[in-house]
Amino acid sequence: MPTYIVLLGPPGVGKGTQAKVLAEQTGLAHISSGELFRENTKKNTELGKLAKSYMDRGELVPDDVTIAMIRDRFTRSDCQKGAILDGFPRTPVQADALAELLKEFGGQVDVVPLITADDEVLIERLSGRWTCRANGHVFHARFNPPQKDGVCDLDGSELYQRDDDKAETVKRRIQVYQDQTAPLIAYYRSKGSLVEINGAQPIDRVTADLLAAIRHHHD
Ligand code: AMP
Repeated sequence: MPTYIVLLGPPGVGKGTQAKVLAEQTGLAHISSGELFRENTKKNTELGKLAKSYMDRGELVPDDVTIAMIRDRFTRSDCQKGAILDGFPRTPVQADALAELLKEFGGQVDVVPLITADDEVLIERLSGRWTCRANGHVFHARFNPPQKDGVCDLDGSELYQRDDDKAETVKRRIQVYQDQTAPLIAYYRSKGSLVEINGAQPIDRVTADLLAAIRHHHD
């Protein structure tokens, strides 16, 4: 049976960074709704233009287009063993759609690590964040600096600051998380799949806790 892991937590807590490491270590696909939207924006597709109008304000892209995009992503061959979902679902409607979708693929949401940190930590992380153009690898000016300023260590592409990592948008994104996404905590807790992870720790400690939670679930 394929394994599906949903990473839950506020913007800036490290979901993207951790999802990339976990995908490498477990062989599961990494599915990031935010990166899929950014790829579409870069290519200037209709979906990209629509998504950008929401992303720039720190709001959520409507459920129907988001769900359709994720459904399409699941049909790619790298998802056979399962996937690590990073940034999806973000609303109760999306969580229900995911449950239905996984039934089709013969699986279910197995583990939901909830990564948390205080708002001050999130704001500090987002404002110092640098993202690579080619593959979305993430660095931080202070906590995880690249070897060479402005260049991705992993693929040599340019590092840039996301438009939505500006202070005002960051505050809105954290508020949107509290209002629209936080209800998923109770939803997954009631299903017995929630595991709380302290996201204020150094990156490798968070990874170790996540791997332990995933393995524990499989034993
Ligand atoms: P992220 O890279 O996960 O921080 O996502 C960046 C932005 O993309 C969010 O602030 C939303 O505007 C949009 N987005 C990403 N995932 C979703 C989702 N599951 N539902 C709606 N909007 C999303």
